[in-house]
Amino acid sequence: MIINEIEVNSLVTKTQVPAADYVINPYIGCPHKCIYCYAEFMKRFTHHHEDWGNFLDVKRCTRKLNAKKYAGSRVVLSTVTDAYNPFEKKYGITREILKAFIDSDAQLSILTKSDLVLRDLDILRRLRHAEVGISLNAVDDEWRKQTESGASALAKRVDVLRVLKEEGIPCHVFVSPIFPGITDFKAIIETCAPYTNEFHFENLNLRGAFRARVLDFISRYNSALLPLYEGIYKYKDKSFWENQEKEILDFCKKRKLKCISYFYHEKIKKPR
Ligand code: SF4
Repeated sequence: MIINEIEVNSLVTKTQVPAADYVINPYIGCPHKCIYCYAEFMKRFTHHHEDWGNFLDVKRCTRKLNAKKYAGSRVVLSTVTDAYNPFEKKYGITREILKAFIDSDAQLSILTKSDLVLRDLDILRRLRHAEVGISLNAVDDEWRKQTESGASALAKRVDVLRVLKEEGIPCHVFVSPIFPGITDFKAIIETCAPYTNEFHFENLNLRGAFRARVLDFISRYNSALLPLYEGIYKYKDKSFWENQEKEILDFCKKRKLKCISYFYHEKIKKPR
């Protein structure tokens, strides 16, 4: 792992990301090393040549973060890294950011695959408008070990939801990315529904350099799924995702769950 500390003028960036006004990425790179990580494109902009997951730039901000000025805005932490990657334990950049939001009326939305977020319960309790999203796309930890080797075990992530619920801190599950023929959204809902009634869903997009890597992985993981993946990603058959989205929305409606679909990234369905 190659680690550099770098100086930046600001940690907060205006964004076009759906449902967000600003994003904060305290690190460049991500040791969680998900095989499907779209954030690998960051290498191009940051002159990194190492494999994704093998480097981490730790951002030291030269200015004090004035979180009050983001009142009423939705600030997402993070989009191209995980703010609670294992090195956060040592550097504490995310913890300092959270502290800056204690007196802010910004809507702070934390999204992570790590149980390290529980370290900051003392601050989370004091934030006025914070919510935590726990991202997962399976309940089988063997799958997690092969696809998200650096992230927390799935049982630990579910345990984070349990603790957040006990603490009264708003939380949701981000079922992402949904792998065709693999992600069992009903099993995820059944596992997590005791702790939250809000679920967000995102389908697997294969637009970046990771496309070949993911398809190669699928061919080794379960070659019987290859025709399905080729249909979706090579021949652009949209029917799988249309059916999947409908099934998800119907299931959530029946279970009276709050559900947001980020399918295709084209339109966002309002909570229902
Ligand atoms: S946790 Fe997010 S940013 Fe980190 S490797 Fe996985 S998908 Fe990429």
